Amino acid sequence: MRASVADGIAGRENARVNAQPMRRFWKSWIPAAILGLISIQASCNKTAASPEAIEQKTGSAPILDGMRCFEHVKTVVEFGPRPSGSNELKKTREYIISKLKEYGHAPEEDRFSAKTHRGPIEMINVRAEIEGDSKNVCLLMTHFDTKRVFNAKFLGANDGGSGVGVLLEIARYYSPEFKRKPPMSLRILFVDGEETQNNANINEAQHDWNIDDALWGSRHEVDRVRKNPKDFERLKVVILLDMIGDKNLNIEEETMFSTPRTIGWIRESAKELDFSKNFFSISSETVDDHKPFREAGVPDVVDLIDFDYGPNNQYWHTAADTIDKISPQSLRIVGDVVIRALPLAAKQWP
Ligand SMILES: [Zn+2]
Repeated sequence: MRASVADGIAGRENARVNAQPMRRFWKSWIPAAILGLISIQASCNKTAASPEAIEQKTGSAPILDGMRCFEHVKTVVEFGPRPSGSNELKKTREYIISKLKEYGHAPEEDRFSAKTHRGPIEMINVRAEIEGDSKNVCLLMTHFDTKRVFNAKFLGANDGGSGVGVLLEIARYYSPEFKRKPPMSLRILFVDGEETQNNANINEAQHDWNIDDALWGSRHEVDRVRKNPKDFERLKVVILLDMIGDKNLNIEEETMFSTPRTIGWIRESAKELDFSKNFFSISSETVDDHKPFREAGVPDVVDLIDFDYGPNNQYWHTAADTIDKISPQSLRIVGDVVIRALPLAAKQWP
């Protein structure tokens, strides 16, 4: 049964009581396990489609360079832990801005003071607009901060790093240099402060989640865009990327705040590119940066997240979230599927 938003919030409280990892609520273990087995068996006879094969199959379909995505992630991980307000996050932001400029875009910094439980923290979202055939906007979003922990080096290669690599390469793909126009106008958004701002013990970081002290950048962006009703009216689609670099890529069908039609576009795109085995064999209910947009009434919303990172998700919010756990191929798969889904979104929102 699909939980309502209200149920979801109650569910999170239950999760806290039961000391389950925050942010996630399994819809169903058994069907997911069966589907997972089917998908693993089906994938045994297949090899991943080569970029050339995809080009042939989809004609002018875009293909991202996975190594380039990976190099961006490697660069930001080498800055070190990147919690909100840190110098390392500033370096990350400067890197993102320099790359967006290099790719011919005009990034804007959106500065705000987040009234966190640690006191006010200055946060800065980075945004770039890419004009498309349709004036309607598809927001492509990822967070770029990492979880603050005091007794370990939490590097967030996947959680905080992976989305940066893919979004930067999507921005490069639509660089004016290549003369490609996206079918919908794109807003590329890097949000600050997705993580709960508490300074956590690494051993407890998986349970350190507070909805009132997280999703700062996405909540701020919703407030910003709502101030201009015409701009808000144009915002039709939100695609969130979070933790999409796992070598064993298994993007979940998030059903609490993602919408079925949008999930359908991703499913269709993955099928066309022969990446179905990497998508939606498991369903879950996850609170993430897409939540404020869905609650604000944006019609098409999807969270692409692989929340099964390492055996029993043991790399998530631990010192094990390092660059060796993620792969160029996974980054490329997600980027390609997103780009291939854009014409489907544009058909709905011409
Ligand atoms: Zn996280």
